[in-house]
Amino acid sequence: MPINQQLRHPKESLYRSVCMLIGGLIWLSLGIFVLPFLIPLAILLWISEKFFQATIFGNAVHVNEDQYANINAIVNDVAQQLGVNNIPRVFILNSDGISNALAIKFLSGKYILLFSSLVDLLWEDDKHQDKIRMIIAHELAHYAAGHMNLWISLLIKPAMFVPFLGAAYSRACELTADRVAADCVKNQKAAVDAMITLASGSRALLPQTNKEAFIKQELLVPGFFGFLQEILSTHPRMTKRIIAIDSFYANSLSTTHGSTRSTISQPAYNQAELSDNMVTNVQNS
Ligand SMILES: [Zn+2]
Repeated sequence: MPINQQLRHPKESLYRSVCMLIGGLIWLSLGIFVLPFLIPLAILLWISEKFFQATIFGNAVHVNEDQYANINAIVNDVAQQLGVNNIPRVFILNSDGISNALAIKFLSGKYILLFSSLVDLLWEDDKHQDKIRMIIAHELAHYAAGHMNLWISLLIKPAMFVPFLGAAYSRACELTADRVAADCVKNQKAAVDAMITLASGSRALLPQTNKEAFIKQELLVPGFFGFLQEILSTHPRMTKRIIAIDSFYANSLSTTHGSTRSTISQPAYNQAELSDNMVTNVQNS
């Protein structure tokens, strides 16, 4: 079941169409010269997944019904909400202090890596675990929204090398994943808290973190260099992601949600975050 298309960020549809057109034209121009490389490419993808499995299966902790059942229940719950039938294998990875999460797709295998530091930062003694749910929902959203689709990724791959275009498409995909996750979690405070904690890297400071003050930092970003930094980045900066999440909740309050588990507040600012390589499709948080 595809996601509600209203959740897809408008820029994603535009950039995806441009990427598919340019990617398709490049593949057509390459024509029959590509054919001899298809079988070696498939073999390379197969070998890459086997090396990945050899590394992850023996070194990270697999989340399942017998291991971290509470996280496994969240994964299953969110996957059902988003219509992700073939649920990715989820692993907790020792990240040596780095806070991140990744969705990784090979020829057939689907994976989500949750970095241990991020799980520790967001852990709550609460059955909903909405902050961790927000992160899991963001990664599953990349699957639900088709960002990990192998054939679409292959089609648009040449366009990813066009300066600025690949990064623009990636940023739009991140905004879509945030919107899908926010819609899934239906807890504005937890969704924003998860993002602010990702920005600060501090669990201890969260209770005294002033969201509005953080959002106002957007006004301090130097115009030209902020723009330059943005068009070179695969993820929108955190201030913009939080502003977008706030705006999403403010709009969805009047259009789609009748009730939520927590208080919905108006955005504090009237404006409103994959690295790729040749052999895998990767989306990070
Ligand atoms: Zn992402």
